[in-house]
Amino acid sequence: MRIAMVSEHASPLAVLGGVDAGGQNVHVAALARALAEAGHVVDVYTRRDDPDLPPDVPLCDGVRVRHLDAGPPTAVPKDDLLPYVPDMAHELVRLWGGADRPDVVHAHFWMSGLAALQAAAVVRVPVVQTFHALGSVKRRFQGVQDTSPPGRVEAEAMIGRNVDAVVATCSDEVSELARLGVPVGHVQVVPCGVDTDLFSPGPPRRPAARGRRLLTVGRLVERKGVDTILTALADVPGAELWVAGGPPWSQLHSDPEARRLVDLATRLGVVDRVRLLGSIPHDEVAALMRRADVVVATPWYEPFGIVPLEAAACGVPLVGSAVGGLLDTVRDGRTGVLVPPRDPVALASALRVLLGDAEAREQLGRAARRLACARYTWEHVAASTAEVYASLVGGARSEVVAG
Ligand code: UDP
Repeated sequence: MRIAMVSEHASPLAVLGGVDAGGQNVHVAALARALAEAGHVVDVYTRRDDPDLPPDVPLCDGVRVRHLDAGPPTAVPKDDLLPYVPDMAHELVRLWGGADRPDVVHAHFWMSGLAALQAAAVVRVPVVQTFHALGSVKRRFQGVQDTSPPGRVEAEAMIGRNVDAVVATCSDEVSELARLGVPVGHVQVVPCGVDTDLFSPGPPRRPAARGRRLLTVGRLVERKGVDTILTALADVPGAELWVAGGPPWSQLHSDPEARRLVDLATRLGVVDRVRLLGSIPHDEVAALMRRADVVVATPWYEPFGIVPLEAAACGVPLVGSAVGGLLDTVRDGRTGVLVPPRDPVALASALRVLLGDAEAREQLGRAARRLACARYTWEHVAASTAEVYASLVGGARSEVVAG
């Protein structure tokens, strides 16, 4: 199949860890590569955010990243991109109207969905939508701090009802979509994946009887709940916390969330046990994880959460919040430990137990690696996604034949 992915704000070529560059970028890049390895041809359409970017950049054999002019060619926060959706749609029509017409379109995030639906109304191609995050959930948890443009929730409901299929990444999202009025029959669950070669346990090592090092990895935004880990740390004597994510290390001092976390750690008396590392290149994250005794992911909410899968693939046990995608990917007590979100007391207690029990850490890590390899390789995820595409492409063909 000739597949078009639309990922308006999240380029597969972006540096990760910034406020708007994380899981979606990884997902789009890895899914595109895995689909190409399976013999499909993939174009990823993203917004030009730098005047020097060439129109097309090859990502690997069979995958091109195509930069479209929509809004100023500079970094723009994703929540300010809505006015440029019609330009994006216009560019898509221009390209798809010619030799680059795809068999199927897969839009990532709601604004890409709007652009894809507008373009597909002109160039008739089936559209698949993955939301990555839902405005209704964001509004519930972030309240007045939610900077999404007005109308996001209604637009997402409209997109869900009008696309040919929605690919949700976890079961929790399916219930959320049903509440928005998206017909359940329209939705299929295909999780995100993990590169199990890059994220691997590495050479066997003998874990220290008493673990010390905790690691958390992610965009440095409040809802990732790093403050919960800092609060818990005060009750986990001897443990240290490494925090990967945010801007590059040299710019951390001017990052508001980094400053808030350092202030909090100082007030809690744990600042000498906390290291903010800044953004870490994606291909160095696995080595960092292997140096940790436990990976911690305690978001308030989590549409999927690739980091927990990456820890699993490295064979490092995870303590995470019992929310969103983690409810599917972490088997509580078997591949990791789930605690209620925003509950530092429960988190500290889970961490004390796990850091004090090398045997339990080993067992959880081994089982987590097995689960990641059995269920979450990108090859597996791409095959399930391609099945969704093929059902629509087949449908479109039979309509043509019947007509
Ligand atoms: N990541 C990275 N370097 C960083 C911070 C994050 O490579 O400094 C990657 C991380 O390894 C993961 C992704 O960004 O692949 C974050 O994805 P996740 O789904 O956990 O969170 P999201 O960004 O979607 O909220």
